[in-house]
Amino acid sequence: MVTTSLLSIRDLRAYYMLGDTVVKAVDGVSFDVGEGEIAAIVGESGSGKSTLGLAIIKLLPYPGRITGGKVLFRGVDLVDLPEEEMAKIRGREISAVFQDPLTSLDPLIRVGDQIVETIMSHFDLSKDEARKQAEKYMKLVGIPPQRFYDYPHQFSGGMRQRIMIAMAIATRPKLIIADEPTTALDVIVQAQIMELFKKLKEELGLSIILITHDIALAMEVADKIGVMYAGHLMEYGSSIDIYEKPVHPYTRGLLEAVPNIETSDMKLRYIKGNPPDLASPPSGCRFHPRCPYRMDICSSKEPPTVLLNGRIVKCFLVGEE
Ligand code: ATP
Ligand code: SF4
Repeated sequence: MVTTSLLSIRDLRAYYMLGDTVVKAVDGVSFDVGEGEIAAIVGESGSGKSTLGLAIIKLLPYPGRITGGKVLFRGVDLVDLPEEEMAKIRGREISAVFQDPLTSLDPLIRVGDQIVETIMSHFDLSKDEARKQAEKYMKLVGIPPQRFYDYPHQFSGGMRQRIMIAMAIATRPKLIIADEPTTALDVIVQAQIMELFKKLKEELGLSIILITHDIALAMEVADKIGVMYAGHLMEYGSSIDIYEKPVHPYTRGLLEAVPNIETSDMKLRYIKGNPPDLASPPSGCRFHPRCPYRMDICSSKEPPTVLLNGRIVKCFLVGEE
């Protein structure tokens, strides 16, 4: 499928300023997301995935700040946009879905009415028209319309996440940022939500950035995979290419840590060592203390980001095309 870029992130930097300490959570990240494309951002805890998602929608918590780079959404740089303009894009053209739906849903308002409210706050529709739309979106995400009058606590975790997704699509966005949307759910419900994302991509032409620590889950649903480590994007490319031939040593480590049922190889492998403290990341390649392929240059010089057969890789083992 030929896609055009909906979102182009260029050299994005998002830091947390903690007095004299600067936590460089996202440090020079660049990638594109096409229209109707699911891009998953994967990596261990603390690699900067959530900060990246929050920076894109400019919702970084204090003391977080975008310190450089561009977030081009449909050609407009969101980084420079005044908050008033940004607020119109956020929640309308770009929606977000987070891990815990309960913190985003009002426990005292029936779920159907919450979706109606969202629709009416963005479109000039009568309550009846908005209600019809809300029912349509509930149906699309797999919630029977008769549950319109139920309260959030009457739903299971998976169904609550479906309600959040219905609210996210009710504003007819072009892009959804989903940050660990299924982490709290069991594997069967996780798979159902991933199927729902695929359906929304196919039926609505939505682009989705899926943030997850689970590379196996990402492989099931994503067209593109981005692998983050210590604030850097180490590899980004088509999920098939990355699955079949991971290039970056960190990507290889993440994939080797996934048990393989097909080959009955259920031995649990893991990458030795821990991710670094982003207040004082390692010199050179940030992965060098854990990398089995490290060379002398790796600890002294930061590897460039190079383009290799359509994917981007940040490693000295890879030369320019
Ligand atoms: P996880 O999967 O655990 O959420 P992540 O890959 O999403 O991890 P981030 O949550 O973006 O990573 O964190 C990246 C770095 O930024 C970490 O070092 C974290 O401690 C730091 N960080 C995140 N939020 C804040 C904050 N509000 N204030 C200060 N530092 C923060
Ligand atoms: Fe390993 Fe060096 Fe490549 Fe970093 S640049 S991943 S340390 S080989």
